[in-house]
Amino acid sequence: MTTYKGTAVSAGIAQGKLLYAESSTNKPEDFCRVQITDSEAEIERLLKACNEAVDQLMVLYDRALENSGPEVADIFMVHSMMLQDDDFLDGMRNLIRSANCCAEYAVMQVSKQFAADLAESGSAYIAERGADVTDVSKRVVQILQGQPTDLDIGHDDPIILIAEELTPSQTLMFDRSKLLALVSCKGSRTSHTAILARSLGIPAVISPEIKLCPELTGKLCVVDGLEGSVIIEPDEKALKDATKKREAYDNEKKELETLKDVEAITSSGQKVKVYGNAGNLEDIEAIVSTGGEGVGLFRSEFMYLGRATLPSEEELTEVYTEAAKKLKGRLLVIRTLDIGADKTAPCLPLQPEENPALGIRALRLCFECPDVFMTQLRAILRASVVGNVAVMFPMIIALDEIKSAKDTIKKAAQQLEKEQVAYAMPKEVGIMIETPAAAVISDILAKEVDFFSVGSNDLTQYTLAIDRQNERLEKYCDVHHEAVLRLIEMVAENAHKNGIWVGICGELGSDFELTERFVKAGIDELSVYPAAILPLKKRIRGL
Ligand code: PEP
Ligand code: MG
Repeated sequence: MTTYKGTAVSAGIAQGKLLYAESSTNKPEDFCRVQITDSEAEIERLLKACNEAVDQLMVLYDRALENSGPEVADIFMVHSMMLQDDDFLDGMRNLIRSANCCAEYAVMQVSKQFAADLAESGSAYIAERGADVTDVSKRVVQILQGQPTDLDIGHDDPIILIAEELTPSQTLMFDRSKLLALVSCKGSRTSHTAILARSLGIPAVISPEIKLCPELTGKLCVVDGLEGSVIIEPDEKALKDATKKREAYDNEKKELETLKDVEAITSSGQKVKVYGNAGNLEDIEAIVSTGGEGVGLFRSEFMYLGRATLPSEEELTEVYTEAAKKLKGRLLVIRTLDIGADKTAPCLPLQPEENPALGIRALRLCFECPDVFMTQLRAILRASVVGNVAVMFPMIIALDEIKSAKDTIKKAAQQLEKEQVAYAMPKEVGIMIETPAAAVISDILAKEVDFFSVGSNDLTQYTLAIDRQNERLEKYCDVHHEAVLRLIEMVAENAHKNGIWVGICGELGSDFELTERFVKAGIDELSVYPAAILPLKKRIRGL
């Protein structure tokens, strides 16, 4: 039994088998060049492993098709095609014959060469396929070495996903109902692994101490997302303790359910709207079923992540319409596309940048890709026919950006009008306050919008100059930093002076130590991950 301490970033206790998710950005390992005597037998060994890898990839394709749709599944199809590519296979065969080297060495050498050639193509999209070559090669090497792969745990087994750092698109590959917990070595409370875990209502711990290796797959593990620990191969006593703790936690959750249909009103009569943050349609169901009064942040990126092609207007319209319908008249705040920094999508290749978090992300990317932005806005307008829909723009720093974004909404409406396609204007247009610039000029920006929603994750990152993805900076990151709290108070004051409402949709909204201060500042709405809705109602009612 090995116990690792870490940071609890999503509450709960889980126990189950680990599945190690290899980071696709990892460089292939170097394998010793073992001299062999029978090159034809070695080639046979290699081809057998390649065939087995193709079989595995086909199983993964079917799973992804069922869980995440054809766009994600296609990634596995591309991987399997690589293993049947004559150039790739000939490269390995020739190397084994000419150098009398082992199959593992040949796989890694040839894949390195392929990845390097792709990197030189000049296209970011093609260069990213280098990661696919690396992924495929690792699978073949794992098979050659008799190591467990991600398929060694059956489809029906629930799993605890462990990785150096889980990318949002990686987690899309898995059947969400089979995820028991997430463990990563990198990240922070506001990284997207943590946000995803909270939205799924499963525990998550970030522990830089864990030594990662493929052999972790299949090992029993306890993830304590209350205290922040990960126990690998727990003994009987640790398992018993975990079960007891989980039962107590579940009982507490049941008690909270009595608050589902009550409003969050303080003892002095101040009402705060409690909304939920959603990253997909299932989250919306969870928000409605846990008594959320609306969706304060619909992270629309999920339709783009992990996809090789852009979603069509029809697809987006369908999903937004479905979301609006599920909410039955409650407000649905759709945040326009926020790709960039740690959220990358193959369908929207980004140029490499020195500082992606300070680079072309969110609205800036939408302005650079006007067709993508227009398609999304048209879909939002079309979905507005059936529900109470608001649009929210992320990463604002200036008034002109809001004006241009609103102009694009008008243009979208004109186009739809001309084409006689049914649409409605969004009920409200708001912005996220997630840069110090926007907070400081919030008095000016308030005149142009219907509401503000504070994105405290990015507001903290940019105010404190602390990369939210870098766990080494955690010790500098005072999440209650007075600078951020004063900015939020200032934003609330400016909003109210100008007659608009203000909410918080970043993770600080569910930080119960701050609830009283936010209520005093007059925050009108708090939008939190679904599992925090009921505890937050309880907290506000206790004030
Ligand atoms: C935020 O920055 O607080 C926010 C809600 O946006 P995201 O976490 O998606 O960047
Ligand atoms: Mg943000």
